[in-house]
Amino acid sequence: MIQQTLVLIKPDGLAKSLTGNILAKFTETRLEIVACKMIRVSESLAQEHYKFLNDKPFFSELIKYLQGEFHSRKKVMAMVYWGEDAIGKVRQVCGATNPEEADPVSIRGSYGRITTSGVYENVIHASSDDKEAEREIKLWFEPHEIIIDCYPTKATREVFERITWETASV
Ligand code: UDP
Ligand code: MG
Repeated sequence: MIQQTLVLIKPDGLAKSLTGNILAKFTETRLEIVACKMIRVSESLAQEHYKFLNDKPFFSELIKYLQGEFHSRKKVMAMVYWGEDAIGKVRQVCGATNPEEADPVSIRGSYGRITTSGVYENVIHASSDDKEAEREIKLWFEPHEIIIDCYPTKATREVFERITWETASV
């Protein structure tokens, strides 16, 4: 089945300069990147992303972690991967949630760690099923930022202020 899935390189992955290594591991999957951007994560975005974990003891640490509070890089790299069985293939390359239990050649097994406060700094996020992928892709991306039509869209007319370049490119 053709699927799309959200991948985030978390702040620890960026602080450790792992972007190239991570993208190289994903090339094995032969999936396509159909959206990609850097984002400074607000508290509300982090809380919405992890809302199903809000009763866990590590929730507040997890929100700070995703916002980059523990690292020198206060940003994440968000991507949408697309292709045959994208969700399972990406999760396979990521490895298990707990970096100690993850396959050593997986991204989390190679680069993740458990902090002294108990949070798994596991370098990467990947959607775990179709429903989660749809919720997360719609949370992190606008339709025009994705180069394929993955979910139905609608046109709305809004009036708002927009920041543009002060001078045109020459
Ligand atoms: N997490 C943690 N301790 C746990 C479980 C999860 O620190 O016992 C963190 C970890 O960073 C993980 C994230 O919370 O990636 C989301 O947890 P989930 O169970 O959704 O795992 P994932 O889908 O990321 O493998
Ligand atoms: Mg999850």
